[in-house]
Amino acid sequence: MAADFIRRIVAADLEDGKVAGVVTRFPPEPSGYLHIGHVKAIVLDFEIAQEFGGKCYLRFDDTNPAKEYEQYIEAIKKDVQWLGYRWADITYASDYFGQLFDDACRLIEMDKAYVCELTPQQIKDYRGTLTARGRDSPWRNRPAAESLRLFHAMQAGHYDEGQMVLRAKIDMAAPNISMRDPTIYRIKKKSHPRTGQHWNVYPLYDFTHCLCDASEKVTHSLCTLEFQDNRALYDWFVQTLRPAPHPRQIEFARLVLNHTVTSKRRLHSLVSSGEVQGWDDPRLPTISGLRRRGYTATALKNFCRRLGVTKKESRIDFSVLEGELRNDLNASAMRTMGVLDPLQVIITNFDREPLSLTVPNHPQDKSFATRTLKFADSLFIERRDFMAEPPRKFFRLAPKRRVRLRYAFVITCNEVLRDAEGNIIALHCTYDPDTLHGKPPADGEKVKGIIHWIAACDAQRCEVRLYDRLLCAPSWNKDDEPPLNPNSLTVLNNAQVEPRLFTQHQAWQLERCGYFCPDRDSTAAAPVLNRIVTLRDSWAKIAPPSPASTTP
Ligand code: ATP
Ligand code: MG
Repeated sequence: MAADFIRRIVAADLEDGKVAGVVTRFPPEPSGYLHIGHVKAIVLDFEIAQEFGGKCYLRFDDTNPAKEYEQYIEAIKKDVQWLGYRWADITYASDYFGQLFDDACRLIEMDKAYVCELTPQQIKDYRGTLTARGRDSPWRNRPAAESLRLFHAMQAGHYDEGQMVLRAKIDMAAPNISMRDPTIYRIKKKSHPRTGQHWNVYPLYDFTHCLCDASEKVTHSLCTLEFQDNRALYDWFVQTLRPAPHPRQIEFARLVLNHTVTSKRRLHSLVSSGEVQGWDDPRLPTISGLRRRGYTATALKNFCRRLGVTKKESRIDFSVLEGELRNDLNASAMRTMGVLDPLQVIITNFDREPLSLTVPNHPQDKSFATRTLKFADSLFIERRDFMAEPPRKFFRLAPKRRVRLRYAFVITCNEVLRDAEGNIIALHCTYDPDTLHGKPPADGEKVKGIIHWIAACDAQRCEVRLYDRLLCAPSWNKDDEPPLNPNSLTVLNNAQVEPRLFTQHQAWQLERCGYFCPDRDSTAAAPVLNRIVTLRDSWAKIAPPSPASTTP
């Protein structure tokens, strides 16, 4: 694959000697859990550093600490590690508060910043618009010494929040509104989890981020497109306050996925309203939700790598992520047997001890070895694999018809047992002992259908959670509530599966059913499986399902 535009810039900067080595950073704000969009940024930041022999920092942008700050920090560290990345160091924007305060004082001394006493609304009104230049604040030309004294007094706690701010003195006529004397410090009489009560003034993002980058000798500061207009400001601060070489900001398009929510604010409200069961609800696109559901780090990373990086925003269909997941799981997941909606089959001519059949753990990959499956007189098959009145092209089980049980025998259905309401409760079948290893019955009939099954004596009953898209529309007007899919979770209570599915948190393929893994709610007494993804894309526009499609 050809290098993307960011990798080309980095390679050129190294070649021209503009930078001696590559340093990047991933800078989450610890105000929520990371989501699939962040994975794109993580993959880019960490892998560019890796590929060019450089390093990447994990920097918490904690200028505006959220309530559950510690919880978020721990969750973010865990997610980055789970993806398989190692940071050169963990840093915090708050580590630099002292330095940033000094930087602000220097700006004032250079007559490039001033304390402004306009109200927040006035500041907004004075800023102008895209078509009208801004107006100078009446405080813009106050003496530097006065600003400096006031700034220290702000920090000493002599003024209230909102009473005054420190603004950079740049250009109120600049076409780029970001450059019209942006606020760089505000009063906040709030304790900070890492610096305690020390500060009464806190720096704003635009002032903080670039100077932290410079302090960490970051060479390439990668961020999403919404920061494009702030780049001029980024450059102005580092060039005014720090010696060369300066870090360089490069923007790329954010990841936008259909049928889901990737805004921290929206995720917050879903979690706090109880619409979902926490940040790691398996329906959420948070890294912790995807991990719990059974998504692999490999699939998430491959998805982001394949999407590549560009400057063009595009919506990606969720099925693209699922396709990547299936590619990974198809190769890595062991096969197992189980039925989600069981129908009992009694083999009336089998009256001996259960038989042990040796079956492969993976149909293509011999390195997965084999295991034994029991065949006995009481089995379960999937209810939808039987039809009492089948259409002509139904090749699975029906009265007086034959079907092959995967890895086992051909059976014939002789009798359908019903309860008082007429519901089918079991089938009486006979098996043909001479049909193992794909051998046809003696009469030569070609048995087309092959279905999955499990012996009752070999099965563990469990709960299965089937997930569907979080939203029932691909996108929605961002001012409205997201259209939640009322069927995003379906619970089945009677599934019967091989007990080994619960031995560890890993992905398994239930043959013909999909990929599954134990949920963290699972206990020995009440085992629970998540369906990670179906075997095929049921959302794709496919021809109406043909009843003839029996086995994958
Ligand atoms: P949100 O929009 O969910 O609140 P954010 O941008 O506020 O996200 P941060 O914690 O500030 O979240 O983001 C850390 C890094 O992740 C930033 O560099 C940001 O550009 C990047 N990032 C966030 N969302 C996406 C996305 N959807 N695609 C790519 N990168 C993203
Ligand atoms: Mg942000």
